[in-house]
Amino acid sequence: MNTTFSCVGCGKCCNDHHVPLTLAEARMWAVDGGQVIVLVEGFLSSGLGVPAQQREHAERRSVAIRSGAAQAYVAITFAAYNVGACRNLDEDNLCRIYERRPLVCRIYPMEINPHIPLNPAAKECPPESWAQGPDLIVGSEWVDRELSDLILRSRQADRDDVQTKDAICARLGIRTTALKGDGFTAYLPDMAAFAAVIDQVAEQPPSAAASEWLFHVSGEDIAGQVVAAGAQVAVEVPVNYAFISLRTA
Ligand code: SF4
Ligand code: SF4
Repeated sequence: MNTTFSCVGCGKCCNDHHVPLTLAEARMWAVDGGQVIVLVEGFLSSGLGVPAQQREHAERRSVAIRSGAAQAYVAITFAAYNVGACRNLDEDNLCRIYERRPLVCRIYPMEINPHIPLNPAAKECPPESWAQGPDLIVGSEWVDRELSDLILRSRQADRDDVQTKDAICARLGIRTTALKGDGFTAYLPDMAAFAAVIDQVAEQPPSAAASEWLFHVSGEDIAGQVVAAGAQVAVEVPVNYAFISLRTA
């Protein structure tokens, strides 16, 4: 089956979407006066939290960390905190920073995660945008080389940046993760401190031995599994983050 697409410029993807940013883009966002949200999820080296077929991709974009007696992996996303319209969207639904807009803005509505198939029904783009334009996917193959290069660049940035993001989080006191599939922990750091820490870490590359992480989970049952795997569960009331639960029942 072929998938065609052409953006109709409706601007919906620029509303209420936290846009994942590379490290350099996150610094730019903070310096421009925007807010970055930090989203964290992790899984245990025992496999708790990650389906076996997703493990390789998940591990490559994560940093190996310690939690209690367990080894674990944490993926850290810095994203533009877009509640309502993005700060860069103008009255005509045009992007004010079009020439330097983030990589993910160039990729939408395509998926970056190779385990998530493109599902037009799950995207903001209206039906007419899928009914016109060039082929994007033929069978299961990408046709648009430029777009697939952007997706590969985005995946590579995830891998290249994660160690540095861990060091930045350590300095900002971000040390509680959620268990992948169970939720995310979400932080809204002060942007002046955030930009300053990015610069400090750039000058002093992080050492491998960062401090350990705690897991915030959705209930006693998951907590039991995390503790049984040797990891540490957060028991204090969160002071600097919110827990976004993905639990359905
Ligand atoms: S930076 Fe531009 S393209 Fe990206 S969400 Fe904001 S307005 Fe849209
Ligand atoms: S939601 Fe889709 S069609 Fe609308 S502006 Fe974004 S990419 Fe284009």
